[in-house]
Amino acid sequence: MRSLKTQVGIVGAGPAGLLLGQLLHLNGIDSVIVENRSRDYVIDRVRAGVLEQGTVDLLNAMGVGAGLQRAGLRHEGLYVSFGGCRHRIDLAELTGGKAITVYGQNEVVRDLIDARTMTTRPLYFEAERVSVGALHSSSPVIRFQHGGTDHEVHCDVIAGCDGFHGICRPSIPAGILTVYERSYPFGWLGILAEAAPSSDELVYTYHERGFALFSMRSPRITRLYLQVPPDEPIENWPDDAIWDEMLVRMTTRDGWRPTVGRIIQKGVTPMRSFVAAPMRYGRLFLAGDSAHIVPPTGAKGLNLAASDVLVLARALKAFYERGRTEWLDEYSDVCVRRVWKAQRFSWWMTSTLHRFADENGFNHHRQLADLDYLTSSRAAMTSLAEQYVGLPMEVSFESAGLC
Ligand SMILES: Cc1cc2nc3c(=O)[nH]c(=O)nc-3n(C[C@H](O)[C@H](O)[C@H](O)COP(=O)(O)OP(=O)(O)OC[C@H]3O[C@@H](n4cnc5c(N)ncnc54)[C@H](O)[C@@H]3O)c2cc1C
Repeated sequence: MRSLKTQVGIVGAGPAGLLLGQLLHLNGIDSVIVENRSRDYVIDRVRAGVLEQGTVDLLNAMGVGAGLQRAGLRHEGLYVSFGGCRHRIDLAELTGGKAITVYGQNEVVRDLIDARTMTTRPLYFEAERVSVGALHSSSPVIRFQHGGTDHEVHCDVIAGCDGFHGICRPSIPAGILTVYERSYPFGWLGILAEAAPSSDELVYTYHERGFALFSMRSPRITRLYLQVPPDEPIENWPDDAIWDEMLVRMTTRDGWRPTVGRIIQKGVTPMRSFVAAPMRYGRLFLAGDSAHIVPPTGAKGLNLAASDVLVLARALKAFYERGRTEWLDEYSDVCVRRVWKAQRFSWWMTSTLHRFADENGFNHHRQLADLDYLTSSRAAMTSLAEQYVGLPMEVSFESAGLC
């Protein structure tokens, strides 16, 4: 048995856990990160790609933005397409110069793992049988096996950053959390293709056959999504069938269409809205997907993980520097306020842009009217733009120790 002591034990080396570890390091606070997957698996996992302005600013302020500045694609607008026409929404003009940046989650994670490695603080990959205990004591513990040896990490606080399927949230006794949940009757079939993006900006398409999204990862790689049934086997979709459907849904009357190329990755993701609150039990603090999930239409998940850990870092800094616990006590309320705004936006984007199997003509025409209003009203476009580039973080960077 190997026994370790740290200030903050972090379960999970996704965006939430790695960002928190780095924020704590910048404030001189020690942490141990425990991840059950391998380094390569964590880096290769293809997921988010759209970073809000605030997330970009946060990564830069933390000194981990070099890759982002080199390879990130800044987008000052996006397109909403319906009825065969694309309508541009000028995000920057409507928000006083803010934008989103396309930079793959795997690149963010790679940059953060490199930064963590430079700190020489512990990060265990391929940890097995991870569990947490003594959550309501002043010394909660993370237990795991690594390299055949049992490990026990005694902490002041544990951050549950282990995603939706992790062990931290289920370790909270029954009756403490209230869960709010909505499943959608569809999923997204996503592909990565070796094809130069035929649009410089994302294209969200509402089509009679279902939603489609055109996006990209780099000047050579396109990332595309199709609305499909939630449990659709990927085997039902040979590459040619995927391209046929993409082209039917996305081609516009002026002849714009995605460039076809070799598909290098494909998979189906179900869609869900989920919030578990409070995001705290004793000395366990949940952050990111371990506490909430949004459907990816609004591109908010990773961004919410970043805003959660900023709030947690502020609270832990005050705790260690001044012995103050008020911000730890407020942590859940402060995060949940922003989480619900992102939930509302993601639900609205999803329900406006997707076809529902049981919908009637009324709903179809309401959706078209919604899209017509959205693309013809400056007020409606401004509302979308300010939410898409990201609502303000709930706490300042300075309060979390960043200049
Ligand atoms: C198709 C798709 C597209 C998306 N697009 C966007 C987008 O454009 N913008 C956006 O902001 N978000 C997007 N998201 C959401 C985003 O990917 C997630 O919200 C984000 O990964 C959350 O980060 P996290 O660190 O909280 O959780 P995760 O990324 O899930 O990380 C949790 C980590 O904990 C580890 N773990 C799990 N269990 C254990 C255990 N028992 N012990 C130790 N470690 C454990 C996992 O291996 C993982 O590394 C998208 C998601 C999908 C699926």
